[in-house]
Amino acid sequence: MSLRTILTQGDPALEKVCRPVEQFDQKLHDLLDDMKETLIDSNGVGLAAPQIGILRRVVVVMDSEDNMVELVNPEMIASDGEQTGLEGCLSVPGKYGVVTRPATATVRAQDRNGNFFEVSGEGIVARCFCHELEHLDGHLFVEHTQRLYTVEELEAMEDEEA
Ligand code: ZN
Repeated sequence: MSLRTILTQGDPALEKVCRPVEQFDQKLHDLLDDMKETLIDSNGVGLAAPQIGILRRVVVVMDSEDNMVELVNPEMIASDGEQTGLEGCLSVPGKYGVVTRPATATVRAQDRNGNFFEVSGEGIVARCFCHELEHLDGHLFVEHTQRLYTVEELEAMEDEEA
């Protein structure tokens, strides 16, 4: 396994529509293992393959029990409700925005061996499913928010509220 470099906003790889995975081979397994290692190293909750320059429909997401869920060729098949909150992205380091997402989301995907499964999440997991799946179509969360905040600005706002 090896750490991969996370690309940042402005890199053309983040604006591309990714291709489906067709070969569930060792190359895919290595990619998933590297993505997991890279996500853990960066303290993120989700990572999509284009963020490390691989234009394939592959995502890893940390679930509510801190288990890593591998999603190959994921599709959103259901979502419900609404949540509004701060969102960030490893490809937009140090910047956060307020984004409204569904409260719950269900994804159908394949595992690393090509078997189909469904997984549901709520709260931050649902937010993460939406955020990561958008990466596969070349979109970033910043498209959903008018204003980006730095950590310092957020801390200043918290102080005002306290
Ligand atoms: Zn992201």
